Amino acid sequence: MSVSDLFNQTLLSKYNINGPRYTSYPTALEFDDITAADPLVAALAQSKTKGLSLYIHIPFCHQLCYYCGCNKIVTRHREKADRYLDYLEKEIRQKANHFADTQVHQIHLGGGTPSFLTETQQVRLMGLITANFTLAEDAEIGIEIDPRRMTTAQLRHLASIGYNRLSIGVQDTDYKVQQAINRVQSTEHVALLTKFAQNNGFKSVNLDLIYGLPHQTPDTFAQTLAEVKKMAPERISLFSYAHLPSRFAAQHKIKDNWLPSAVEKTRLMRQAMESLTEVGYVLIGMDHFSLPTDELAVAQAKGQLHRNFQGYTTGGELDLLGLGVSSISAVGNAYLQNPKTLNAYYEKLDNNQDPAVKGVFLTDEDHLRRYIIQQLMCNLTLSFADVEHQFGVDFHSHFANELMALREFEQDGIVNITAQGIEVADHARLFIRIVCMTFDSYLQDASKTHRYSRVI
Ligand code: SF4
Repeated sequence: MSVSDLFNQTLLSKYNINGPRYTSYPTALEFDDITAADPLVAALAQSKTKGLSLYIHIPFCHQLCYYCGCNKIVTRHREKADRYLDYLEKEIRQKANHFADTQVHQIHLGGGTPSFLTETQQVRLMGLITANFTLAEDAEIGIEIDPRRMTTAQLRHLASIGYNRLSIGVQDTDYKVQQAINRVQSTEHVALLTKFAQNNGFKSVNLDLIYGLPHQTPDTFAQTLAEVKKMAPERISLFSYAHLPSRFAAQHKIKDNWLPSAVEKTRLMRQAMESLTEVGYVLIGMDHFSLPTDELAVAQAKGQLHRNFQGYTTGGELDLLGLGVSSISAVGNAYLQNPKTLNAYYEKLDNNQDPAVKGVFLTDEDHLRRYIIQQLMCNLTLSFADVEHQFGVDFHSHFANELMALREFEQDGIVNITAQGIEVADHARLFIRIVCMTFDSYLQDASKTHRYSRVI
């Protein structure tokens, strides 16, 4: 399949609608107030997994990027992170004893900007993790960094305390684009950091790119892509810029008329896909790329890819424990989310309570539908026998309406429904979210789809 097969104009016009990204099911918009006194214990009672993945949110940033939709606090006061670490320590101590017999296979520090922490603060955090959890020998330990305030000496220090995966926010290398998003950074320095990391203990480097940014044109983006390819990272994430100034105030700084049109934006996406795959990167799902030897590409080839709040992953069978403000756990039969403000997060921990305030406990029906959506999102295929064996349902009678609704997709060549199951055509993988929406029982009310971004 070539990239041009992915961009069928008839399908693009008909199906480029709003829809969830399905990093969870039910999606975070369905989370409700938590009423259980000890929600983590209740969730863990239903857990069948023996391994753990940790996500730790560090909310602080040195400077505001105008495109940003993350939960972050922009500040120059690095000592604020000391207080934050005091509370992270409380949360870790409160929760870690529930995982005394569980090995941690993955750790990811996200933000905000995890590299906001000083070396002393980084050592303290890693000490807290290793003192309270048992890490698998080959644990993947990753951190997102801001290249504008990162030196090779700091990278060496991160490697020395255990980090072995790195993610760098590049977004775009063009100066005019960088100025418009208030994120001016040196491409040479990003290249230096990438090479240094690859030669000094980091097994994998991911570079983030965004298409649809102000002043991006095919020419400027070609230059960005050429520079990124030259750096030869193991992974590349390609995100779509969603311009929603009514939700993210900083985006008011980006004028509507600086942005590429919807058609131009789709062209930029296609350009990136063509440019990256022609030098050997493998398209993972809809929006990630990896070298063919990378674990993500291997997992995809084996049909073992999973998806969580960080996107595509290899560790889907693991419980995910989120720590820190706004973090989300996916444990046992529940999603649990911490408060989005520091004050609310601190107050809960001051009262020795589990900080989770929002979430959802999955019903049997949610489990069934989550499995189907995961299979389709990650592996583009679903076996009826597999679902029937795992969930004890008769697929054709249980999902008679959904199978009927899929007929239109079948006529348009997006899916193929056989006696064995459902296969999403490889050339239709950009529309996988709309196929999954058929199985989303929370979208019966069509008006709800307006809360999501466009599928492309
Ligand atoms: S994009 Fe990253 S570095 Fe920029 S403000 Fe948002 S969280 Fe902070």
